[in-house]
Amino acid sequence: MSQLDAIQSLSDRNNEEGLQQLLEFKKNLPADTSPAIRLEVLSVLGGLYFDAGNRKLSTQTLEEFDQLAKQMQDQDALLYLEIFETYSIFEKSGYAVAVAHLEKLGNAVATSKNTNVQFRYLATLGAFYSSNLKFDLALKQYLDMLKLSEQLPRRQLQAKMATWSQISGLYLQMKDPQKALSATTEALAISSASLAPKSFIDISVSRGVALSTLKRNDEALKEYENALKTAKVEKLPYWAALALFNIADQYLIKKDYKRAESYAREAMARSEGLEDQWGIASARVNLGLALGYQGKLKQGGDLVKESIAFFEKANAKSDVETIIGELSQMYEAAGLYKEALEQVRAQQKLSDEIFQSDRAKSVAALQEGFDAEQRKRQIEILAKDNALKDADIKNHRLQQMVALLASLVGVLAGCFIYTQYRRSKKLNEQLKEVNLQLEFHAIRDALTGLHNRRSFISLMANRNQRVETERREGSYRNPDCMILMDIDHFKNINDTWGHAVGDVVLKEVAARLKAVVRDDDMVMRWGGEEFLIYSPKSNPEQITSLVDRVLRTIGDTAFAHGNLAIPVTVTAGFIAVPFSDVPEEFCDWERALQIADMALYLGKTHGRNRAYGLSRLLVPHELALPILTHDLAEAITQNMVEMIEVLGPEQAHPHQSTPLSELK
Ligand code: GH3
Ligand code: MG
Ligand code: MG
Repeated sequence: MSQLDAIQSLSDRNNEEGLQQLLEFKKNLPADTSPAIRLEVLSVLGGLYFDAGNRKLSTQTLEEFDQLAKQMQDQDALLYLEIFETYSIFEKSGYAVAVAHLEKLGNAVATSKNTNVQFRYLATLGAFYSSNLKFDLALKQYLDMLKLSEQLPRRQLQAKMATWSQISGLYLQMKDPQKALSATTEALAISSASLAPKSFIDISVSRGVALSTLKRNDEALKEYENALKTAKVEKLPYWAALALFNIADQYLIKKDYKRAESYAREAMARSEGLEDQWGIASARVNLGLALGYQGKLKQGGDLVKESIAFFEKANAKSDVETIIGELSQMYEAAGLYKEALEQVRAQQKLSDEIFQSDRAKSVAALQEGFDAEQRKRQIEILAKDNALKDADIKNHRLQQMVALLASLVGVLAGCFIYTQYRRSKKLNEQLKEVNLQLEFHAIRDALTGLHNRRSFISLMANRNQRVETERREGSYRNPDCMILMDIDHFKNINDTWGHAVGDVVLKEVAARLKAVVRDDDMVMRWGGEEFLIYSPKSNPEQITSLVDRVLRTIGDTAFAHGNLAIPVTVTAGFIAVPFSDVPEEFCDWERALQIADMALYLGKTHGRNRAYGLSRLLVPHELALPILTHDLAEAITQNMVEMIEVLGPEQAHPHQSTPLSELK
């Protein structure tokens, strides 16, 4: 056992050398070696193969571990495997089943005297809670892990670093990059690159992501470069590729496309060397974007699309969605609006799909029952608790260094966490989006005091009955109108002046909108920075003038906040329902709104600060609707629909603009 320890310590500094020695060691194990030690050797070996970038042998080793555990009926090892099994249960049957499986293991874990098994259990439970936004529960597991790491037979330091890295990830998910950063500082205080290089790289990458989220891009870059340097010195190719990929990402943000290209190429070459398909596809996205932004649109676009196909095949929907978004931005920057629109549409379709997926639904259900205030308080209490424990930990630092005994810590779930790195990063972004969307699922909109999506939907449920009655009674009247708006480049407002100022802008937009509508009109916050005006029984002339007033009330005068003058514009799409006398069984309000949304996006791609409305169909609806709902630009080109274009007030720094008439 002490030989195994020595080898593993060596592998912390030099993975290749450690792997060689371990293989030698395994080959020469005496025939009467206890199964416990054989299991240890296999689990360490699996980890070293993984770190060396050899996915295949790593998996093979795990299978060997599995067989031996079953053969020996080693209760702790079997329990360990059961815990690991949760990940495949999750892949197959989703969150609820996976967590039920884990929670069922709770008793067995509690009665097991094996601290490694207990530690792995907490880590897995924490990871599942956090990916389902049960932040307080997740944090509790992680803090228990810190405490338990004191009792681990060996490799306490690595365990602690891994835990801090998890905590940092959790805070990132909670949109608190500052705390995420502090967590990595805690980790660095107890270690260094030479003491535990693998954990050090892990922490550096987490730190980079936190800094990048804080827009401290130069510092983020330094962290990734640090990680890269250590990965190269310690011969950890997988981490080197991960760091290179993140560096390329950073240069894309900095708009230094030449450098982004060269780092993406290097990341790709390394991932190819490792036969890491996931890494290759990720790096290829960055390479494609870097080329595209340098004007090589065809080549860049093709590379990105190749990766999209890969992620589609892997069923990584949130990846696909994010990448499509990046691709459409690239096309838009190049003025290729048609391509951009095509991608935007694909992205929308996919994001709807993702939002409707079971996972998103379960997130929605969880989120709805969530009391934000209580969550905050709990986290504060836990954090205080945490600080106390940490002081304890530091006092024991010396003792930890001496602790050397066998453990299974970190290997199996470690694999999962790293292979999923990009995925989870993207998934978190997706969850953030879902979170934003969830805001309008609440009973009413707390920020602006406006009606929200839910109240509108229930209103429209009644409307369907009303329409039914009116149609039966033959009492025809003016249609109802819907104007859907989205603030232009709202992310810039958040990024430049901060989220709090973004909120002020949202409130002011709401106030200005309410001031321009009639008493009967309804103004809603439709999504994060999307608004909807529902204007019942209004004729087309009234609507055009309302749309004009809307664009002007937002764009005419900059928003004042303290000493700031923030220019704001919106882009809108509008339509009436019933639309162009089409019976609502063919085009109900939801379909009409979908078309208005298409019109809005057309406005976005034609330069923003404008509104596009559909006044009437020029061909029978059977012909027009199928095309309209999927490709508005095409329907316009084919003269199927009559459009109204309303331009917003001129701005000091206008966006590149193309009039609608150019479509024909
Ligand atoms: P575009 O012109 O294409 O619409 O650009 P955009 O930057 O507005 O892009 P997008 O619509 O995707 O961005 C919406 C942003 O709005 C993302 C999110 O951070 C922000 N947001 C959503 N809800 C809120 C909120 O309640 N408060 C603040 N401050 N920001 C929000
Ligand atoms: Mg938006
Ligand atoms: Mg917007």
